[in-house]
Amino acid sequence: MKVFFNGKIVNSNSPIVSAFDRGMTFGDGLYDVVKVINGKFPFIEDHVKRLERSSKFFKMKSRYSLSEIESIALELSSVNGVEDGELFLEITRGTDTIRDHIFEEEYDPNFLEVVQPLRKIDRNLWETGAKIVTYPDMRHGLCEHKTIDLLPNVLAKNYAHSKDAYEVLMFRTQNGRKYVTEGGSSSYIFFDGERIVAPKIDNILPSITRSKVLSIAKSMDLEVIERRVWLDEVRHMKEVMLLSTVSKVMPVVKIDDMSFLFGEKTRKLASAFENLILSYRAKIS
Ligand code: PLP
Repeated sequence: MKVFFNGKIVNSNSPIVSAFDRGMTFGDGLYDVVKVINGKFPFIEDHVKRLERSSKFFKMKSRYSLSEIESIALELSSVNGVEDGELFLEITRGTDTIRDHIFEEEYDPNFLEVVQPLRKIDRNLWETGAKIVTYPDMRHGLCEHKTIDLLPNVLAKNYAHSKDAYEVLMFRTQNGRKYVTEGGSSSYIFFDGERIVAPKIDNILPSITRSKVLSIAKSMDLEVIERRVWLDEVRHMKEVMLLSTVSKVMPVVKIDDMSFLFGEKTRKLASAFENLILSYRAKIS
């Protein structure tokens, strides 16, 4: 497969990263994932904005503009023959001369762009619903950013895999009571029978899919409330939806021993979101 690295399209297995790239040595970098469908990149402007916001926050430089990133993605889709897949963007702070935690002001960031086919997901899950397992959220306090230090997420998702589940639903504890955060690479929203309930953005990723789906819900005159969601409340929810760029709107039918319906609200939101992706026209170039 061909990838783009710092200005060149190269083979993915060619040695391109320095040993002292700060992503290699410290996980000092950011990433984003955009859907690729019919050679288009739905909501790429939102993904790049999120990446740029985090770059500013962590004092990293952005190397390429939105339109440059999009034209590289078009070229990669074409050379790799990927019509339906995933666009992966990664930026690391840059390369040190020797390994040192302290970073300088002046770095040329390293930038990787990949267009790959969709990862293997059982397509039946969108029809039958996914099984989820709960798992402690062991991540740091910077989860509103898509940082590349993903070891806790990797462990969480492998735990789910070992339990024959699609994802985890992570939780943290406050005063002895557990509240839900998000998945290893997805967000959750709930339907409590009257309204859509979404865990508030408080040390969880401002998911692009979540934001689009909540806007759709509001446009359907569904009431939406964003608040802390306690794990002991989840049992009483009527419907549960898992959201992400890759998973889109996926119905959840089981969390540990709790069962849920693949109900009408999930069906409506999933189909409206699918239409939104398919109707996507770039708002750039
Ligand atoms: N939460 C986490 C931790 C993620 O890694 C992701 C996506 O990878 C999401 C939520 C979903 O975000 P988005 O809808 O922007 O893909």
